[in-house]
Amino acid sequence: MAENKTVLVIGGGFSGLTAAVETTEAGYDVVIIEKNPYLGGRVAQLNKYFWKLCPPTCGLEIQFKRIKNSSNITFYTLAEVEDIKGEEGNFDVTVKVKPRYVNDRCVGCDACAQACPSYRESEFDFGMNKTKAAYLPFDQAFPFQYVIDDASCAKDCMKACFNACKYSAIDLDMKPKTVKLNVGAVVMATGWNPYDATKIDNLGFGKVRNVITNMMMERLAAPNGPTKGKILRPSDGKEVKNIAFVQCAGSRDENHLPYCSYICCLASLKQTLYVREQYPDSKAQIFYIDLRTPGLYEHRFLWKVKDDPNVILTKGKVAGVTEDPVTKDVIVDVEDVYGGNKIKVAFDMVVLATGMVPATQEMKISKDISYTPDGFVDMTTAKKGIYAVGTLKSPVDVARSAQDATGVVIKSIQSLGRR
Ligand SMILES: Cc1cc2nc3c(=O)[nH]c(=O)nc-3n(C[C@H](O)[C@H](O)[C@H](O)COP(=O)(O)OP(=O)(O)OC[C@H]3O[C@@H](n4cnc5c(N)ncnc54)[C@H](O)[C@@H]3O)c2cc1C
Repeated sequence: MAENKTVLVIGGGFSGLTAAVETTEAGYDVVIIEKNPYLGGRVAQLNKYFWKLCPPTCGLEIQFKRIKNSSNITFYTLAEVEDIKGEEGNFDVTVKVKPRYVNDRCVGCDACAQACPSYRESEFDFGMNKTKAAYLPFDQAFPFQYVIDDASCAKDCMKACFNACKYSAIDLDMKPKTVKLNVGAVVMATGWNPYDATKIDNLGFGKVRNVITNMMMERLAAPNGPTKGKILRPSDGKEVKNIAFVQCAGSRDENHLPYCSYICCLASLKQTLYVREQYPDSKAQIFYIDLRTPGLYEHRFLWKVKDDPNVILTKGKVAGVTEDPVTKDVIVDVEDVYGGNKIKVAFDMVVLATGMVPATQEMKISKDISYTPDGFVDMTTAKKGIYAVGTLKSPVDVARSAQDATGVVIKSIQSLGRR
């Protein structure tokens, strides 16, 4: 039998993109299936990412350029795998692709959004913002192409977009379609979702307006976010000059996520810098069980924050979070372990360091995969020819996701010729 030269990559985040470009640069064909209307995954939502603390485009742009320059990568956005049948070297895959209603003549001029009368909540900004139903997912989205969210359109309102477009880029006749593929290996890279903070009763999320999650904080600090990068609290737009970070919000807790999400301490240290740099007279307090900063460079990051006299690190589990009904400040109740007493402190805003949950549940190939007790993919029992990468196997940062994806490429290439 001839070698099947195609690898399927499910998920177009940093792990999936790395797997895709490394595979194609080794001479093989790749098809990427991404459920969002854009590639880049969660990294696209970050304000800056360590260790260089550069904006997400500094890493993603290189990946997008490698994809653009490769004639061997095909990608489908708004797409999900419905079914995979077969064996290593010969998988038949069924993919469902939702209509975008915008074709590749789109030049990103925004005329459709300006004409669009309907709004939708931005999931990219975690509901802190609205976009028109015809929208560009974010300013440097790849593909740089608008999308129409038909579920948010009022009756017949798509015609307004259609009439406004000078480039014949709006195609209202687009329908959901099914794509059939035959591939030799499958790389699963569907990444992670933030833990649902409304499940943590005592930490106030969803009830206290000025309690947000760490991913919302990334969007608040981002220049392309809902406040254009000004860190303002949700209730009244006040500048956030007195902020608390609550570590292990739901993590290392058998009622929620029993495991450590590895990234949360580092993310809060990074976000402390966002606030301290934006408001030099601001104060930050981090409440932690243990401050975990594993790795080579991570400690230097901790030292930088520790040396700042306007940052207090307090060891103690937060017992409760409530709202001052008059000021809308957030009151944090905590047992200060080293102080040996219970303290109550008021803040402008509180950030919950919620953990990473593997995005495995919605995958349609779950029958061929085993999971660890925490829900991550267990590669020791995976079916031959199917590989998982990055945050689907454990909570990891971008560098480790990319390293893992590069390693998995070898495994998937080996699968192409075997049957
Ligand atoms: C608050 C916070 C801050 C962080 N800051 C940093 C930082 O500064 N530096 C750093 O290195 N790391 C940081 N991280 C971690 C970083 O976000 C991850 O390492 C990175 O997102 C991993 O990439 P991934 O491709 O594995 O997953 P993801 O980014 O989740 O990408 C997965 C992709 O798969 C797609 N997908 C999901 N399900 C399906 C499906 N069924 N079908 C098709 N597609 C699907 C998703 O839409 C997404 O595009 C942070 C994490 C948090 C929580």
